[in-house]
Amino acid sequence: MRIRSGVSLAVAVGVALLTGVRAQQPPSSAGALANRPGANRAPEFPVPSITDYKPRSTLVTAQHPVPRAKFPVIDIHSHQPAPITPAQFETVVAAMDQLNLQVLVNASGASGDRLVQSMAAIKATRHPGRMVMFSNMNFTDVGPGYGAKAARQLEADVKAGALGLGEIMKGFGLRAKRADGTRLTIDDPELDPLWDAAARLKIPVLIHTGEPQEFFQPIDMANERWLELSLYRDRRLPEGQFPRFEALMAERNNLFRRHPKTTFIAAHFGWHANDLGRLGTLLDEMPNVYVETGAILAELGRQPRAAHDFFVKYQDRVIFGKDSYQPDEYPYFWRTFETSDEYFDYYRDYHAFWKLYGMGLPDVVLRKLYYQNALRLMPGLPREGFPR
Ligand SMILES: [Zn+2]
Repeated sequence: MRIRSGVSLAVAVGVALLTGVRAQQPPSSAGALANRPGANRAPEFPVPSITDYKPRSTLVTAQHPVPRAKFPVIDIHSHQPAPITPAQFETVVAAMDQLNLQVLVNASGASGDRLVQSMAAIKATRHPGRMVMFSNMNFTDVGPGYGAKAARQLEADVKAGALGLGEIMKGFGLRAKRADGTRLTIDDPELDPLWDAAARLKIPVLIHTGEPQEFFQPIDMANERWLELSLYRDRRLPEGQFPRFEALMAERNNLFRRHPKTTFIAAHFGWHANDLGRLGTLLDEMPNVYVETGAILAELGRQPRAAHDFFVKYQDRVIFGKDSYQPDEYPYFWRTFETSDEYFDYYRDYHAFWKLYGMGLPDVVLRKLYYQNALRLMPGLPREGFPR
């Protein structure tokens, strides 16, 4: 705490004054508004809601929007139709060209005949080198023999051209059930043959585990994702109905630990972008684990110095991914990674009510983040369009 003693006294008095009157409210946190002792002021005007209050910033500072990434980019976490039509792909590629996105990994994935059809559909477009497919499995009714069968299917899918497995979706851990009706845990040994097959086939597994930790917390005035949880019913994960965040993280880490030869890419920074020290410890312990940047930009942009240091330290372990394909959102990523701009807008208010700051990453780190790490993990990716 960097609060001087006079101020912390004011905070303490403010809290004391408030607690009597507003017993329902969660405890006030450091940095919360507090009256001067004895002032007892309350707003004279009706208090705006958090969706109404959008103050204009009067800050005047250098602005460097980045509509196009500095180096060609592989997005390892995209969701596209499978199969995609030539017309759909033309629209996608037109935006990719503007953004300097060279290759998309369709992490919606597909298996068997649908995978074969999806790969043929990409080949039939004018841009066969701009999208690749992952294999995917739906973990329903997992029982004895499932793992071995899934491993055989993965082998066939990789033979057909799939470059990875995933995205293993968040339902795995949160909702998927075994055939006997019990919850399928992430480290269930029945699936061991599948993870071992991925190691043998030398393909990465993109896995999404859990959700942001606030989704598991009470939806009150202290919850950072209150607005999102209020908007989206299906993102609420109340205690008693869903396993807890820490239980899921423990199962996931157990999976990573038990399969040291399998390369795992933890989607969404493993949901630890808000605790980079914790994520660093995980990466230190498990050299088979990589992380992907989808949907966590707001976490990075609110701690640009720590995020910069993390990306430099773990420059061989971080891979670019965006998740939902919204072309107008990518430039926020480029700007946060590439510039040292300050206090600029983020694109989605229900992820973050704060502004972003640029991390100012050096070129050597940007190249690894944007394409080199992905090319190393997936030698089958098209090489065209990347600097030698
Ligand atoms: Zn996804």
